[in-house]
This record gives sequence, C-alpha cells and structure tokens, in this order.
Amino acid sequence: MRNSEYIFSQKKVSCLFDASFQDILTFCSKEKTIIITDENVYNCHIEKMEGFRTIRLKPGEETKNQKSIDRIIDKLLELEVDKQTFIVGIGGGVVTDMAGYVASIFKRGVRLGLVPTTILGMVDAAIGGKNGVDVGIYKNMVGTIYQPEFILYDYSFLDTLPVKEWVNGFAEIIKHACIKDALLFSMLERYTLHQIQTDSTLIASLIEKNASIKMDIVTTDEYEKADRKLLNFGHTFGHAIENLHRLPHGHAVSIGMVAACNLSEKINGLHFEDAQRVVKLLAKYHLPVDVETDYAKVFEVLKLDKKRENDKMHFVLLNKIGEAEAKPVSMNFLQENIKMIL
Ligand code: ADP
Ligand code: ZN
Repeated sequence: MRNSEYIFSQKKVSCLFDASFQDILTFCSKEKTIIITDENVYNCHIEKMEGFRTIRLKPGEETKNQKSIDRIIDKLLELEVDKQTFIVGIGGGVVTDMAGYVASIFKRGVRLGLVPTTILGMVDAAIGGKNGVDVGIYKNMVGTIYQPEFILYDYSFLDTLPVKEWVNGFAEIIKHACIKDALLFSMLERYTLHQIQTDSTLIASLIEKNASIKMDIVTTDEYEKADRKLLNFGHTFGHAIENLHRLPHGHAVSIGMVAACNLSEKINGLHFEDAQRVVKLLAKYHLPVDVETDYAKVFEVLKLDKKRENDKMHFVLLNKIGEAEAKPVSMNFLQENIKMIL
C-alpha cells in the first residue's frame, strides 16, 4: 500500500493506492464503521465486508435522490451513529456521492472514507469531495463539497466489474488526457481496452496516473474558481442528454466531448485532425460519438445548467490535445448552432 496525502482547506485526504480492503482498519474499527454500498457490490464482495454493519442501496442512478438520503438517515439514527463513527462508501459514483453527501449533513458532518469500486469512481467520482443527488432529470442539483479522510484503492474490486462499466470509466480517462495530458492521450491510442483490462500493472498505473491528475486539479482549486472547471469538459452537453436519454454517464460525456470538440473547432481554433483523433479514440474504447436527439429539449435542459450565467454558458474548449480552457459562450450562439455542434 502507498499513501499519497493531499491537503485541502479543511482536511488532509489520504489516497491509499495498491491497498487491500482490510487496510481500512488502520483508519477505523469495525465497531465504529457503517458501510454504505449497493446490492451488486455487496453480493460480489460479501466476504470483504464480513463483521461490518452495512446499509445496502438499490444499484443505479435512480436511487440517487433525496428520498434515499432520508431513508439512509433513518437507518443511521436506528444504528445510533455518533460523530466518531466513520461512514465508508463502497461502490461506484452513485454510492460514493450519496455516502459523501449523507456524511456531510448527518449531525452536521461525520467522518468519511471512500472505497471506489468502478473505474469511474477510482479516477473521478470519489475524488474532490463533490457529492449530492439528482432532482428529477437534473443531475447533481443538490449537494455539498466534503472531503473524505481516505480514499482506498483495492483493485480486486475490479475483477467483478462488468465490461460496460469499464467503458463508462474510460470516458473520464480520455477526458483527463484531452484536457491535461497529451502523452496519456497517445498512450491510450497505443493500447486497446482489452489489453489494459488484462494487465494488472498497467491498470494500476493508469488509475494512479488519472487519480493524481484529478487530485492535482482539485487540490489547487477546491471550490471551482479556475482550473477545476476544466474537468467539466464534455459535461455540459453530456449532462443535458444523460437523463433525457437515460444514457450511462460515460456515454453521455463521450457524446458531450465530441460536441465540445466541434465547438472548439468553430470558436477556438482546434485543428480538425485533433478533433478527429478524439472521436477515433472514444470509438476505440467502445464509446458512442453521436446521438439522435430533440435539440429543443436539450436546449431546455442546458438552460438550467449550473454553469450558466445569465445569457452565457461557461464552456470547456480544447486549444489542442492536452490543453483546455473555459470560455463563456452566448446562449444565443449555442441555440442557433446546436444542430452543428451536437
Ligand atoms: P458509476 O461509478 O458509473 O457512477 P454506479 O455507482 O452506478 O456508477 O455503478 C455502476 C454499476 O456497477 C452499478 O450497477 C453497480 O452496482 C455496479 N458495480 C459497481 N462496482 C462494481 C464492482 N466492483 N463489481 C460489480 N459491479 C459493480
Ligand atoms: Zn463525469
């Protein structure tokens, strides 16, 4: 196990890479821990959680709402959770987002640890403290920023992860390469998903690399004043189509990144060849690159995006592969050009 420590404004976060699940006992005792997980993760890894008290959620994005949070709170009360108890979220982004949110509001904040079990969770969702729930079709509309004390990486969880969830997670890995790391981009061009999946050294180094890209961004800009915005690359159109079409997050972000590349070509001088490389790489990792949609409906959802300020939307655009910037784009321009962008 390797402990990399990252300093946030109110907490030090330990990233425990190459760890085994039982290493959480160096942070919390079984008696003072409540695990929040979902039924799939629990059933696949029941032996790891033996002796811990668990709250098990129904898997999937549909669970990510305030009603489920209220139910969790009732359970925490039943279990007599106090301020010294650790809430440990074990699962994909849905579970870690909900565990983080509930830990931040229950008794105005209890101790939190996260054990991401999906690629998306390991390289993205569990990092940076953002948490929360959806409201209707609006993703992550309610939530807080609350750092865990540790994020534990036990790669054996990935042994049971369905291929479609691997694909989902690679959308965020490709996003990191697009906005920050041209070398990572060319490395991804050289391999196939299958090669990476079957090489445990490669997957461990890829996850650690991507976790540190995200950690470096969020530690320098915890409250999204500057660089953290770049992580929204592909997420503006992505979020607009995600719940509208009930797409997996990675699929929506993939289509959103293609849209952002089209927009970057139009207004940011991104070369056509670079945009094509992005499209090709996404397709190589089995991600969709377009969608048939109702443009008027997409625009309606877009208008409610948290990144809109009056008649402008803050969009993340590429200058070239490995370099991005956030720029305001007028809502009128987006509405007029939506058919060409998406
Ligand atoms: P994400 O990390 O993509 O935000 P979720 O929390 O919705 O997503 O997890 C995606 C799906 O994968 C869920 O059905 C969840 O139960 C399942 N899952 C998560 N981790 C594992 C794992 N290690 N093994 C098997 N299934 C898993
Ligand atoms: Zn995302």
